[in-house]
Amino acid sequence: MEVNTISNLDAMVVTHRCPVCRKVHVMEVPAENYLARQLGAMLQDAYKDFNPMERTFLDERAGGYCPECQKMIFGTDYTSDKIMTEEEYLAKHEAAVEAAL
Ligand SMILES: [Zn+2]
Repeated sequence: MEVNTISNLDAMVVTHRCPVCRKVHVMEVPAENYLARQLGAMLQDAYKDFNPMERTFLDERAGGYCPECQKMIFGTDYTSDKIMTEEEYLAKHEAAVEAAL
């Protein structure tokens, strides 16, 4: 799992390759939540505002399955608008950069 900070340090960008489908997914996580987890908080405490699908994606110990693979494996009904494919994430930022020009 790879993590980068963006501009103002309010958010961490978690980049993760799903161990099943090998696709890279990206999720922006508030820095305070991410740091709480790094400092030892339980997954459900550090990410209590996130749904189970998002927590599973962020759970490096449980494999960090992407949304599509979680649906396939667990049959979960959850969805997430926070977990993006690499292409969706880049497109979103391209649009933001273009809007700022
Ligand atoms: Zn996957």
